[in-house]
Amino acid sequence: MPMGTVMSTENYHFVDHKFDVVVIGAGGAGLRATLGMAEQGFKTACVTKVFPTRSHTVAAQGGIAASLANMGPDNWQWHMYDTVKGSDWLGDLDAMEYLAREAPTAVYELEHYGVPFSRTEQGKIYQRPFGGHTTDFGDGLPVQRTCAAADRTGHAMLHALYGQSLKHNVLFFIEYYALDLIMMDGAVTGVVAWNLDDGTIHRFSAKMVVLATGGYGRAYFSTTSAHTCTGDGGGMITRAGLPLQDMEFVQFHPTGIYGSGCLITEGARGEGGYLINAEGERFMERYAPSFKDLASRDVVSRCMTIEIREGRGIGPKKDHIHLVLSHLDPATLHERLPGISESARIFAGIDVTKDPIPVIPTVHYNMGGIPTNYWGEVLNPDARNPDRIQPGLMAVGEAGCASVHGANRLGSNSLIDLVVFGRAAAIRAGKVIDRSGRIPDLDLRACDKIIERFDRLRHANGSISTEALRDEMLHTMQEDAAVFREEKSLKKGCERISALWRALADLKVSDRSLIWNSDLVETLELENLMANAITTVYSAQARKESRGAHAREDYPERDDKNWRKHTLAYLSLDGKITLSYRAVHLCLLTKPEDGGIDPQKISPKKRVY
Ligand SMILES: Cc1cc2nc3c(=O)[nH]c(=O)nc-3n(C[C@H](O)[C@H](O)[C@H](O)COP(=O)(O)OP(=O)(O)OC[C@H]3O[C@@H](n4cnc5c(N)ncnc54)[C@H](O)[C@@H]3O)c2cc1C
Repeated sequence: MPMGTVMSTENYHFVDHKFDVVVIGAGGAGLRATLGMAEQGFKTACVTKVFPTRSHTVAAQGGIAASLANMGPDNWQWHMYDTVKGSDWLGDLDAMEYLAREAPTAVYELEHYGVPFSRTEQGKIYQRPFGGHTTDFGDGLPVQRTCAAADRTGHAMLHALYGQSLKHNVLFFIEYYALDLIMMDGAVTGVVAWNLDDGTIHRFSAKMVVLATGGYGRAYFSTTSAHTCTGDGGGMITRAGLPLQDMEFVQFHPTGIYGSGCLITEGARGEGGYLINAEGERFMERYAPSFKDLASRDVVSRCMTIEIREGRGIGPKKDHIHLVLSHLDPATLHERLPGISESARIFAGIDVTKDPIPVIPTVHYNMGGIPTNYWGEVLNPDARNPDRIQPGLMAVGEAGCASVHGANRLGSNSLIDLVVFGRAAAIRAGKVIDRSGRIPDLDLRACDKIIERFDRLRHANGSISTEALRDEMLHTMQEDAAVFREEKSLKKGCERISALWRALADLKVSDRSLIWNSDLVETLELENLMANAITTVYSAQARKESRGAHAREDYPERDDKNWRKHTLAYLSLDGKITLSYRAVHLCLLTKPEDGGIDPQKISPKKRVY
């Protein structure tokens, strides 16, 4: 039994800790925040349910966007313009400006931390084209802005950041499952986690908790996300009575391998790959004459869905599309895209130098999440202050919503979001945390409530298995919150998901053990997934317009007058959803006369590629 362990009346073994900062999650965002906090001199812990380098960031292939201008002209104003347009004018302008301006610094920092970027002949960081990234405020050619370490960029980032964090004496709690936030008098003062390896319960007190728990792609049947992407941070937020923002915006990536969902990076189209329908037609030329296959992801996914619906899909069921790479130089494929050649061989049984890859739009990214400002501070709006800050809590990475991706994220803008805002959170913490102040005491009543819920789930003895209920949720989300949406299916989706929420009370967990109990982990994850899923469907049903990834067939136009605003969804324990809205930030950080972007350039217009 570990040191400091006491036996509680409920027969759980508790271990208590005090840290300045506890980061939950060790993906790109969590590790960058962790490293930054340690660099600020804070006593920092990082709690993670999987080994850091197994976080989903490891799967990021294509790269990380920053206007380094290594391959031709580029600047942060163009990057910002593309991000604003990509977001379909829903992102917060201050956060998008911060992202685009800080991106080059954040990438050079990664280089110095040891990320082995691919190189140009002159030895500079290699950059490739990606969808929606352009020159000259969208009037010029596609730009090469996406910095890459072959097609293993996320892998390289995690290894470098983990090594650096160890060097800074961060304490890692690996294979610990964070259960819930400790709330005391309206402030977050810590977190309770379960050590999967020995069954002890760890109660962390901290001056600041950072949620970096990643997305919730696993709420859908077909997704490119790892099994660990279960939106645990979103679940914790709703149980703390805080809102989730813009959950209706779920990105479908155009090229998931048909059948397995495994991702083929957009970098494949960046390097010259293109899509064809059953007639062999390069159909993107028809829909997006300028940028063709490199139009924004939501646009390409919708075009593919239309092709399939209109009978031009490929295969016996006419239900997929082909991605052609066979015309590319095999040396380029080998050097720039080795991982996807391997994925295509394993998951589709094909040789990309000869055959096209069967692909289909697949759930890939959650634009929505925990609302924050551009310093990563979590927002808990009230009637008087839409930007009210929740004391003691930050959120970064895919779990958060700053919001830089608005209604649709551009490829390679997530990895940069992880490091820019992971870094920003640490810089901010350095200013707002009272270094000489005491770390809060444990609120034992709040901790007991968390353990009661855990214990209740552990002994759940109803009639539905976790697997069966999860399966129903996956299909509901896939069918009713899809690429195209309309009132009838969304209404049905709300009813179905609410019924599934009620069924959570009837779950059965068969394994009562506290050690490596995957049944219990999956049940905790299912509750979190459901919190994300139910807020997604209700937010989608309420938004009566089409914007970015939210495409309503009954409201095909974007409606800036009524809907250029963020959705806030609150979920009560009995499954009731309450929606309210928050204005989009339209203020810029830099005036045009000081080198800032001309506001005219980013005023809303029709989004064509
Ligand atoms: C296949 C794929 C390819 C991609 N390629 C690109 C790309 O090329 N470029 C790009 O910009 N974006 C890409 N993306 C998107 C991007 O990779 C993700 O948005 C990003 O990596 C998310 O990072 P994160 O740090 O927020 O979360 P993750 O990397 O998902 O990490 C989450 C962390 O939280 C921890 N955690 C979660 N719940 C708990 C809990 N209850 N208790 C303890 N720990 C917990 C996990 O252990 C993990 O360490 C890709 C995504 C996928 C799925």
